[in-house]
Amino acid sequence: MPFDASPTPLIDGFGRPVTYLRLSVTDRCDLRCRYCMPERMKFLPKKHILSLEEMARIAGLFIHHGVCKIRLTGGEPLVREGVISLIEALGQHVDSGALDELCLTTNGTLLARHAEGLIAAGVRRVNVSLDTLDAARYRHVTRLGDLDRVLEGLEAAQATGLKIKLNAVASRGAFEEELDDLIRFAHRRGMDLTLIEEMPLGDTGRDRDANFLPLWQLRRELEKRWTLDPVPLSTGGPARFVQIRETGGRLGFITPMSCNFCALCNRVRLSATGKLYPCMGHEGASDLRAALAGGDAEVMRAIRHTIARKPERHDMVGNSGQSQGLARHMSELGG
Ligand code: SAM
Ligand code: SF4
Repeated sequence: MPFDASPTPLIDGFGRPVTYLRLSVTDRCDLRCRYCMPERMKFLPKKHILSLEEMARIAGLFIHHGVCKIRLTGGEPLVREGVISLIEALGQHVDSGALDELCLTTNGTLLARHAEGLIAAGVRRVNVSLDTLDAARYRHVTRLGDLDRVLEGLEAAQATGLKIKLNAVASRGAFEEELDDLIRFAHRRGMDLTLIEEMPLGDTGRDRDANFLPLWQLRRELEKRWTLDPVPLSTGGPARFVQIRETGGRLGFITPMSCNFCALCNRVRLSATGKLYPCMGHEGASDLRAALAGGDAEVMRAIRHTIARKPERHDMVGNSGQSQGLARHMSELGG
């Protein structure tokens, strides 16, 4: 049981309420996407990773203090052994009404196996990362992936009633040509599609600036072929949506590099090792794992300390317009 009966909400130094926790359940993954990690990725020793019980305990404290949305991410969350038991524990907060939403971001390779378990545990929405429908290019981008497994996962998930959104990282090259197919594929199946600008997180061995495709440029190209009607829908998140008149489906743009959206940020991120990051685009974090030994009051002190220091905005783009990288890989913290 959390220690204070009348908890005060979590508000940062700029008056932004923190109501959304992204929880990375593992840094490990069964794929090696080129924009995310190098081929020979060195994962963290397992002894540094929080137990599922510790994750549930920390998440429970956040919920008690007003967090109403949790997204599990990674690495690949579904490769963590026993992850469904964590999802079931968090699902109880959905049943009690304390949590409005429990969702997941996954590469989809294990979705067919887990779709039933996810919906039974209280998950209603899943984001699936899929950058291409070309099997050879999918293998190239992910280095290890099998497109058919993801397509089976999508089908299985939709059959259970899970609502799916697709995420695609934009990169210069074949992506521009394949995007129309991806739009048709998603919208025919009733899925939104969100495009994400590549961020310079961690050394992946690739030239970030050469691959970078600003979404304002892509959007200009799309407007030559599709009618994009702005949608006033706000998910409280960074995506800005349009509706494509020809398909009736929605297309989102996440533009951390070309158009900063930090003023609306309502989230913090917990790494699999228990580090709480107030901002994905900064290195600053505090160690909740160390605080766990001091009890819930100590953990809450560390959480409030971190949130009070949440920066006004990320600084992944320098004054010159060049991208400024961070040493931490995306898989350490989740997208
Ligand atoms: N493994 C899961 C997946 O791929 O969906 C969850 C973790 S992954 C790090 C979360 C999201 O981050 C994915 O949509 C992925 O495409 C995106 N991503 C990874 N590296 C990125 C980068 N450098 N810039 C922008 N998005 C990135
Ligand atoms: Fe794995 Fe997701 Fe990173 Fe791809 S983007 S390597 S699936 S963690």
